[in-house]
Amino acid sequence: MSRPTWDEYFMDITRVVALRSTCLRRQVGAVIVKDKRLLTSGYNGAPRGLAHCEDVGCLRDTYHVPSGERHELCRGMHAEQNAIVQAALYGVAIEGATLYCTHQPCSACTKMIINAGIRRIVYEHPYPDPLARELVQEAGIECVCLK
Ligand SMILES: [Zn+2]
Ligand SMILES: [Zn+2]
Repeated sequence: MSRPTWDEYFMDITRVVALRSTCLRRQVGAVIVKDKRLLTSGYNGAPRGLAHCEDVGCLRDTYHVPSGERHELCRGMHAEQNAIVQAALYGVAIEGATLYCTHQPCSACTKMIINAGIRRIVYEHPYPDPLARELVQEAGIECVCLK
């Protein structure tokens, strides 16, 4: 019997969370974990109650914007942002937590991760954002690529 490690266990869950994504370009999932407890989860998609990119189209898609650029053109929120906002919504303390994410967080998400007090990031797909790497390093956040 081979049991998954805790990192594998939470990454397996994160991959399932990503399946709920409505983004036309990339399905991303995130979960926030503290003391081996899953606190919140999030996937990328339009804000609550609003039409999704798959229904109304996505400008990033329409204009063929390269990966990692002009995030503001999309109505979708990132998975990490949704997981952090869910903690705020329900009053869940996430200071000192670990964030599991299918993809390496972008610089916008990294800033929120830093200020949310998250101390460790685990991801499996690297994402080309040099500023994000620089911020993570400067903040002293442990960053682990599972693959
Ligand atoms: Zn979009
Ligand atoms: Zn992001």
